[in-house]
Amino acid sequence: YEAKQSRNAVCVYKAEMETAYLRRLNVEQRLRYGLASHALYMVYQPQVNDAGETIGLEALVRWQDEELGFVSPAEFVDVAEKSGLMIPLGNFVLDTSLREFRQLIDKVKQPLDLAINISVIQFCQPGFVDTVLNALKTHDVSPSSLVLEITETLFMGNFDQVLQTICDLRSHGIRLAMDDFGTGYSSLSLLRQLPLDELKIDKSFVDGIVEDEKAANMVRSIVAIARSHNMSLIAEGVEEQAQAQALIKMGCLRFQGYYFSRPVPMADVRQVLTDTANTDNIPATIRRS
Ligand code: C2E
Ligand code: MG
Ligand code: MG
Ligand code: MG
Repeated sequence: YEAKQSRNAVCVYKAEMETAYLRRLNVEQRLRYGLASHALYMVYQPQVNDAGETIGLEALVRWQDEELGFVSPAEFVDVAEKSGLMIPLGNFVLDTSLREFRQLIDKVKQPLDLAINISVIQFCQPGFVDTVLNALKTHDVSPSSLVLEITETLFMGNFDQVLQTICDLRSHGIRLAMDDFGTGYSSLSLLRQLPLDELKIDKSFVDGIVEDEKAANMVRSIVAIARSHNMSLIAEGVEEQAQAQALIKMGCLRFQGYYFSRPVPMADVRQVLTDTANTDNIPATIRRS
């Protein structure tokens, strides 16, 4: 009986692996087609300060496929990274978000940053810095408006090369943010050696900040790290006013999350900017006073 049971378990396992494998193949094939047929687009999530004003936008890629429907970027970015599609996908993201950002800042007066997620595959590609500089030049966007979001997976690569690329980018005025901070591989000693501009507090810590003392303590530690390294801070995944208030109390004064706005197409960003500029709206209620 035991042998039979374990054989069944193996079969189930095998079937699951096959399903996952077939899904991956299918996503890869459709993504290749999607990249060539303009099925991908960008949305932008506002980043706001403690006065509720929008100070930046994070560009997030979206894909609606004819056969697969909506596929989450968490899934297809991973497939792209493992199938040689990350460079074309990353170039699409850079080009599209800088072009749309340029069109926006032509129309609005307030200063805004643009944050773009960069995969480790792009970051470690020879010529990456030039790719970014060329895209900025093409779309006439100042390097000082651009924040590149990298993740702790970078620490698994060649440290000297990563450091060199970071220094190169910063020498042009481009800022670097560590995304999902606290969830990955970074050690504090590695972090200390990297000149980064911003830490993004991961949603998982923000989720528990009000009722879970461990999550709250984690946020306090991250705030202390940012201060001692002279880095700015932003919290992601803020869904409730109480979370924003707790973050302000702990010293994190910039936020991103559904409480303020979901990611929206660039055509809707101007409306969001008008809404958040209105002092009667909800975000303004988090003001410190
Ligand atoms: P991320 O860079 O950490 O982006 C934040 C994610 O949290 C986004 O998910 C965003 O829609 C979501 N989010 C923001 N506020 C809230 C909230 O209040 N509640 C909840 N539940 N979620 C919130 P999204 O767009 O699905 O992206 C997932 C991940 O995929 C990103 O995490 C990033 O790692 C990757 N990704 C997205 N776009 C790109 C891209 O253009 N290039 C690269 N390399 N990666 C990307
Ligand atoms: Mg990000
Ligand atoms: Mg993030
Ligand atoms: Mg995250």
